[in-house]
Amino acid sequence: MNIHEYQAKSLLERFGVAVPRGHVAFSIEEAANAARELGGSVWVVKSQIHAGGRGAGKFKEDPNGGGGVRVVKSMEEVRTNADAMLGATLVTKQTGPAGKEVRRIYIEEGCDIDRELYLAMLLDRNTSRVTIVASTEGGKEIEEVAAKTPEKIVRVGIDPVTGISGFHARKVAFGLGLEGKQVSAAVRLLMGMYRAFIELDASLVEVNPMVITGAGDVIALDAKM
Ligand code: ADP
Ligand code: MG
Repeated sequence: MNIHEYQAKSLLERFGVAVPRGHVAFSIEEAANAARELGGSVWVVKSQIHAGGRGAGKFKEDPNGGGGVRVVKSMEEVRTNADAMLGATLVTKQTGPAGKEVRRIYIEEGCDIDRELYLAMLLDRNTSRVTIVASTEGGKEIEEVAAKTPEKIVRVGIDPVTGISGFHARKVAFGLGLEGKQVSAAVRLLMGMYRAFIELDASLVEVNPMVITGAGDVIALDAKM
């Protein structure tokens, strides 16, 4: 599916996956309204383009400025960063040198991140099993982790006849070093993600990063499907 981050998260949320609150915006005014509605004092302004690597990306119009994902702490900053992104061209590792024009942004509540982890589900064509791929190296591309530190990747295959069970989900959670209530929160997220994968007939669902918050919650901070 060629959908944006905020659309993928909205789909996952329907299946019980925990995601931060947020609103899409097509203008500076909508961005300000979104932040006001969310409340709080930390927001993240996120460029919505069909490519990853936005955080580390650069805008053609301001190559020395910030990237495509910015944490902000005032309404004024919501406005100036929305203005800087809307209509500008974001170049990331995945867009190629031409970049992609940002026509919409997502205003999300800021999340207190303790750990960033990697989680994906994909269809293994050889075994026709859904495979869960997880890693403690959240925020990094999985290809890079596979090449440099393959021991940090956990893989769990799921038999399509029996589907996912608590056993599979706990194996992933323990493989990521989760403890206490983080385990049950991660199991809930994995179960919801699997249901979304099956019911939406996806071939890939990637949550990078899945984060553990300071309070011990487990949240899908970025999603692709
Ligand atoms: P991309 O993968 O395209 O760079 P992400 O959505 O993964 O975009 O965001 C990049 C980074 O920005 C994340 O790894 C995380 O550190 C930070 N980030 C994203 N969303 C939030 C949020 N709601 N609160 C705090 N930090 C965030
Ligand atoms: Mg990401």
